[in-house]
Parts: sequence; C-alpha cells; structure tokens
Amino acid sequence: MNELRECPFCGGSDLYFDDVGNYRWGAVHCGDCEMHGPLFRKSSGGEVVEGWEKTATTEWNRRASDTFTVTPAGRAALEGGE
Ligand SMILES: [Zn+2]
Repeated sequence: MNELRECPFCGGSDLYFDDVGNYRWGAVHCGDCEMHGPLFRKSSGGEVVEGWEKTATTEWNRRASDTFTVTPAGRAALEGGE
C-alpha cells in the first residue's frame, strides 16, 4: 500500500482509514485536526468494495502533494490587476 502523505490541512501524520456513514463510506482521517479526505464507497448492497483504501490513498496524496500553480493571468488577478 502507498504511504500516506502528511495532512494537507494541519501537516499532521496521525492518519488512518476511517469509517463514515454507518460503514458504507471510508476516508483517510487525520487524528490531529479531525479532517476527512474524499469519501469512497466501502460497501454497496452488502458487497465490500475492494481496493477503496488504495483509491483513497491516491486521492489523499494527490490533494496533499500537488504544487499550487498560479497562471500569469491568475497572478495578475491576485495582485489586483485586471
Ligand atoms: Zn490534519
């Protein structure tokens, strides 16, 4: 399984997979700031969804690791230009 990157909200590393919504949904959970990552279906119609942790890990890491890129037009807007 992939390693989970640090929490994008607080930088914490107390991360684990948590159940949400009566065990039907799962998400990466940060024990430091109590934030959840994107929710993924853990079970559907009584059937366990295989590999949801892998998907949740990928999504968590993508959100946490993407470099924020500002386009020239975006930078101009941020700096008060037109
Ligand atoms: Zn956190």
